[in-house]
Amino acid sequence: MGTRLAEITKTNKIKLQEERKELLKDIAALQERLHTEVDVDEEEGDPELHERDKAVTLLRAMEKRLDSIDAALESIKRGTYGICERCGKPIDPARLEVFPEARLCLKCQEEIERSPSSIRYRI
Ligand SMILES: [Zn+2]
Repeated sequence: MGTRLAEITKTNKIKLQEERKELLKDIAALQERLHTEVDVDEEEGDPELHERDKAVTLLRAMEKRLDSIDAALESIKRGTYGICERCGKPIDPARLEVFPEARLCLKCQEEIERSPSSIRYRI
């Protein structure tokens, strides 16, 4: 493991843990909001309904992001952080600095984004 990657891994671990904490708080707050809004009158063509849909979409996105963060933290634990999950080559450290939860190298990420069948790899 190169020194730069080791340093980035250390920094990113802290970043990811903090982000995870924030995200969990946001998710909890959003879930709380969604729970309270269930009681809103649903039969009157609730104007809140659209907001609710948006909140659900946001919640899904947050949960997906949480998965990515968890996976990145897991790979730090396993010592495989910074290695592309698809081709096994090292991910550019500059990319990791910008996207701490990146699990694919830029090349694989681009290839996958061009192929709609592999959407699950997207961050
Ligand atoms: Zn790759």
